[in-house]
Amino acid sequence: MPVYPVITGNTLEPVNEFPMTVPCPECKEVVVTRVDFSAGALTYLLVIVMMLFGLVCCAFIPCCVNSCKDAYHYCPNCQHFFGVYKRLRLDRTRLIVI
Ligand SMILES: [Zn+2]
Repeated sequence: MPVYPVITGNTLEPVNEFPMTVPCPECKEVVVTRVDFSAGALTYLLVIVMMLFGLVCCAFIPCCVNSCKDAYHYCPNCQHFFGVYKRLRLDRTRLIVI
C-alpha cells in the first residue's frame, strides 16, 4: 500500500521539491504533482549575501537556480494548489534551513 504525505483539508505539507504522488481532493484522482519554482526567502538571502561579499555580477545566480527557490505543488489535471516547500522559513522561535 502506497504511503502519501499528510494532507490537512485541501493542503499538504510538501516534504521536498520533487513531484509527489498524492490524491487530489478536487478531481478525486491520484496524481503526481506538477512543481513550479519561485524565488523565496533563501533566494533573496543568498542574493544579499553575495552582494555583501562583492559578488554583484554573480548575485543573480540564485534567481536562476531551482535548488535555491521554493517549490509550489499543483495538481496537473485541475491545477489545485497542494502546498509549498519552503527552503528557508521562519519558525516562531528559530530559523530553519532545509
Ligand atoms: Zn486535481
